[in-house]
Order: sequence, then C-alpha cells, then structure tokens
Amino acid sequence: MIVLGVESSCDETGLALYDTERGLLAHALHSQIAMHQEYGGVVPELASRDHIRRAIPLLKQTLADAAVSAHDIDAIAYTQGPGLAGALLVGASVACGLGLALDKPVLGIHHLEGHLLSPLLASKPPQFPFVALLVSGGHTQLMRVDGVGQYELLGETLDDAAGEAFDKSAKLLGLGYPGGPAISRMAEFGDPAAYQLPRPMLHSKNLDFSFSGLKTAVLTVVKRHNTNICEQDKANIARAFVDAIVEVLVAKCMSALKETRLKRLVIAGGVGANRQLREALNAAAAKRRYEVFYPELQFCTDNGAMIAFAGAMRLREQPDAAKREYGFSVRPRWPLDELRAPQAA
Ligand code: ATP
Ligand code: MG
Ligand code: FE
Repeated sequence: MIVLGVESSCDETGLALYDTERGLLAHALHSQIAMHQEYGGVVPELASRDHIRRAIPLLKQTLADAAVSAHDIDAIAYTQGPGLAGALLVGASVACGLGLALDKPVLGIHHLEGHLLSPLLASKPPQFPFVALLVSGGHTQLMRVDGVGQYELLGETLDDAAGEAFDKSAKLLGLGYPGGPAISRMAEFGDPAAYQLPRPMLHSKNLDFSFSGLKTAVLTVVKRHNTNICEQDKANIARAFVDAIVEVLVAKCMSALKETRLKRLVIAGGVGANRQLREALNAAAAKRRYEVFYPELQFCTDNGAMIAFAGAMRLREQPDAAKREYGFSVRPRWPLDELRAPQAA
C-alpha cells in the first residue's frame, strides 16, 4: 500500500510517499525559515500563502523521485492538527482535493503522532513499549507509548517548550531565528564555568518541565552586559543555557524510565537534533543499560515522511480509517491524549 503524506502545520511544506512493503519511496520539503527570518518568527498569513505556492510542485517532485503515478497512491494522509489554522487548511484542502480527483481515501493525522513515530522510520527501529520524549518548537512531553495511538502522558512543560526556550534565548543573544541550532553551535566555544543558570524543576517529584524561568535567567545575564557583550560572553551564556536545559531533559528521561520500568527511550521533535542532548542522553542511558533511539536528523523537524508513515501505521491496523469523505476540518488545538488507537475491524 502506498500512502501520500502532506505536512503543512507550521513553516515547512512536506510531501512524501511511504510504501508499506518498500518503505519510504521519496520525500520533498520546503522550509520557509528564510522567509520568516526578517520577522524573528513565523508569520501565519505568509506561511499559509507559501504552502499554497509549494504544495503542488513538491507533490510532482515526490511522485517523479519515487517513479510513481498519482493513480498508484492508495491513501492520502495529511496533518489535521495541531498547528496554525490557515497553514493546516492548505494541506487539508490539497489532500482532500487530490483524494476527490483521484478517488482515493483520505486520513487526518495528528502532527505529534507523526513526530512520535518518526524514529520508527530509522533503519533500526525501536520495539513497543517505550518512553518517548517529544521536544519540539511547541511541545515538551514525556509519554509512555504502548503502540500506535496508545499514548499515556507522563509529564509536560508547564510553560515554554524546549524548542521555544532555545529560540527565545538565541534571540536574546542576537543569534537569529530559529536559534536552536545556532545557540548549540555557539555553546561549543563556551566556558562551562563562566555562568551557572538554574535547572528548573530538576528536583520536582513529577515529570513536568518549566523553561520560561531559564529564558528569563538568560535575559538577566545578557542585560548585565549592556551593549558591550562580546562573542566569548555570548558563547559562555550559550554554554550555560545548553548545559542547564540538557541536564533537566536527561534527568527527567531517566526518571521516566525508572518509573515505568521500561528500557527503551525514543526522542522525537526538532530539539532531538541537538548534539549536546544526544551525547548526554547516550552517556546517561549507557550507564543504566537503556537503549536510546532517534529519528534521522532530517526527520527531527517537520516533514512529510513522518505523516505518510503515521498514516501507513494506522492503516495497517485499521484499513478503513481512511475515508472517501472530502469535507475536511482542521484542529489547530488538539491534545495528543484525545487521540484514539486504530480499531481493528
Ligand atoms: P510542534 O511540532 O510542537 O508543533 P514545531 O513543528 O515548530 O513544533 P519542530 O519542527 O519539531 O517543532 O522543531 C523546531 C524546533 O527545534 C525549533 O524550536 C528549533 O530551534 C529546534 N531545533 C532544531 N534543531 C535544533 C538543534 N540542533 N538544537 C536545538 N534545537 C533545535
Ligand atoms: Mg518548523
Ligand atoms: Fe512539529
């Protein structure tokens, strides 16, 4: 079965074809980062318009790369939410319009389920059950995952997401948008002893997070320098920030594994691309004989492959989950635990 995936929840347009027998056939992505950069963040209206411009050329490219005809597609999966309403509507209308024209069934996918299952696209996929840390631009959640659609929330951020903390702290250091990768690179040159930043909720008895205080602590240190902050100061602050956030994320993952008595940890979402986080997680897990799984770097941030894959996983268990019903709706807000497991016929 060949599933077309369409992702347009934020500032990436992603198209992909996943074959349940042959795996990922092709995928194409356009990131709008350059377009939003001058505004310091995503401008929703510009995002929607750009998805409209990109979707069909990317679809054509994906079909050509996979050497597949549109008529060979068996089902179309699209991101139904959460995300920016206008951006989601573009992907949903492209998917449903194609479905109607080609007489193919369509299926709405939860964007976070896409992220969550993306490590299963890797060459050595984890087995269920596992603990998942979802660290993206909009979410920071620890989950127990027993199967497709079987997600139990163990803890989550009470305020900013980890990616948001990276981006906001980078902005305070004048590193541009999105700042996650930039602050991570800068931290490499920082002196770890120069500054100590707080580790929010490190010793709380639960698996929740809080990152807005960390961002405020960065602001306080930056302000102390007034305007004459040099590159080495920036690197030192970046290092202190990365050390603090990584320590909290790693500690909470280890607590979640201990509490659930599971041995496998899966990382998903954009911050999962972070080098310092991966190194620290690998070291902590090796010490305790846990296994850690990551998505391929290119599938950490938003992409169509994870949506095609999540669609294929659901359809494998519930073939009638995709329907020839083309009156679409989107869900800009959609808690993951409202999602139901596929119901086998
Ligand atoms: P959500 O999926 O919650 O709706 P999103 O789709 O915007 O949010 P992703 O695309 O998964 O989030 O990830 C983007 C985030 O990942 C940004 O905040 C970005 O700064 C961060 N990020 C990407 N690469 C790195 C990196 N190497 N180090 C730290 N952060 C990173
Ligand atoms: Mg993005
Ligand atoms: Fe995302």
